[in-house]
Amino acid sequence: MVSERMKGLGTARSVIRELFEYGKVRAAQVGAENVFDFSIGNPSVPSPAAVNETAIRLLREQPDLIHAYTSAQGAQDARQRFADSLNRRFGAHYTADRFYLTVGAAASLCCVLNGLSCPGDEFVVFAPYFPEYKVFIEGAGATMVLIPPEIDAFQINFDAFQQAVTPHTKGVLVNSPNNPSGVVYSKKTLERLAAILTEKSREYGHPIYLISDEPYREIVYTGVEVPWVPHIYRDTIVCYSFSKSLSLPGERAGYVLVPQEVTEGDDVYAAVAGAGRSLGYVCAPSLFQQVTSLCCDMTSDIRVYEENRNLLVSSLREMGYHVVEPGGAFYLFPRTLEPDDRAFSERAKKLDLLIVPGSGSGAPGHVRISYCVQTETIRRALPKFQALADSYK
Ligand code: PLP
Repeated sequence: MVSERMKGLGTARSVIRELFEYGKVRAAQVGAENVFDFSIGNPSVPSPAAVNETAIRLLREQPDLIHAYTSAQGAQDARQRFADSLNRRFGAHYTADRFYLTVGAAASLCCVLNGLSCPGDEFVVFAPYFPEYKVFIEGAGATMVLIPPEIDAFQINFDAFQQAVTPHTKGVLVNSPNNPSGVVYSKKTLERLAAILTEKSREYGHPIYLISDEPYREIVYTGVEVPWVPHIYRDTIVCYSFSKSLSLPGERAGYVLVPQEVTEGDDVYAAVAGAGRSLGYVCAPSLFQQVTSLCCDMTSDIRVYEENRNLLVSSLREMGYHVVEPGGAFYLFPRTLEPDDRAFSERAKKLDLLIVPGSGSGAPGHVRISYCVQTETIRRALPKFQALADSYK
């Protein structure tokens, strides 16, 4: 006998992985240059040279120490550098003792959700959303409450949200810049959200935490501002990752920040650390605690993502697709040309165009295009998008 839930998670691949694996098989059949794989969010630009140089230098200078266990919450000097960086950038006063270093945003979220969850708790998620949220929330023994999308701009459907918050609501997850829409929540959206959460927390007599999942915080385009969420809502817990900003998804590096202002913050921080312990994380990889903290004010050269966005948005609109312009991340989430997004994705697949149905993200009638690829790949894929549109005429 094994856990049916775990067996299910271990055998059923996500739609994204399914397409990604199909792309590899298909590439072997028809040649990689003939398969247009927009399925997965692997950064296409290399890490800054300083990342590799720092890793090599540390390996040379501290060949034994660098591989040692650190404190469970992460090395003090690394946590201090993260605090200093955010304090410089956002005029804040964070201290090292409120950072908990993790193996990426996925682990940050799991530590926070497991740390907060009590029996009967609910977490609100806004569609379109990163499908793993459901796995993480249910893994923490809580229930996900999904808010349908506001499809005109992919901000927040506040009418539905107001109805969904109950005395069982322990937290709300936001992800901006967003996967899969690429949209950045405006300050106005976040302020309205904060006002509702403040009012409901008061009404129910307990804090409702805002969990800000920010792996794309630095991937933002000209003229767009990503508001610093803890300045807008006091009870914000930040989940960060270096997977995208420093193109390090395989190295597994990130952190949880529980700012001083957070209600019962000492308990929240202790519970996050306890969750990390119970999940068996022990500590984040020591080499990359050092590398990311020494390089945390840099990003990979992300200009190509903006170029890709511009090319795709203008080209797809000319072809007749309806597209909300993304302000960041590297995803585009156009409407499908028929109501059934799975059928649309299947039709695209026949053209060797791999795009992910939006149903799995709670937004049927859309598909996700991950444009973290070479611009040339997009240029060569445009006739395929045109053929797809033509097939509906
Ligand atoms: N949250 C969102 C919205 C993501 O898109 C991803 C990865 O794609 C993650 C979390 C997990 O990222 P990490 O590699 O840091 O665990």
